[in-house]
Amino acid sequence: MPRLSSQAGGAKRRAPLKVDELVSTAVRERNRPMSAYDLVEHLASQGEKVAPQQVYRSLGRLCSEGAVRRIESLHAYCAGGEDGGAILYCERCGALRFPSVAHLADALREHAQGAGFSTSRAVIELCGLCEQCSSAPSAWEEYQ
Ligand SMILES: [Zn+2]
Repeated sequence: MPRLSSQAGGAKRRAPLKVDELVSTAVRERNRPMSAYDLVEHLASQGEKVAPQQVYRSLGRLCSEGAVRRIESLHAYCAGGEDGGAILYCERCGALRFPSVAHLADALREHAQGAGFSTSRAVIELCGLCEQCSSAPSAWEEYQ
């Protein structure tokens, strides 16, 4: 297949490193959880049409390099925090925080091991409202 052939939907095939750079930059700049389709739409709005398959492959590479992290419970991606560290995200505005709580994952692994459970990885994700959103009235409260 030629390298610059047109894809369905007008997306051009780009070199993987170029796609990685676009995806990584978008995830870092937004600082909000982004799904693969959010990324496709965001890049298209920037004039960069990239096929969803290319974005998925790029996310796989960036995750394995540690440049991007997957938020399992949201099926989305973000940048920041330590690999395997906890993620807090705001359900209202999407703000992300990356608290340093490695001792929690260690304690959970130890507990699992004590129970005869062999773990392959730990995912600690908490959702709720960030400080700003929890002090602001919700749209429903403003309506009443
Ligand atoms: Zn918030």
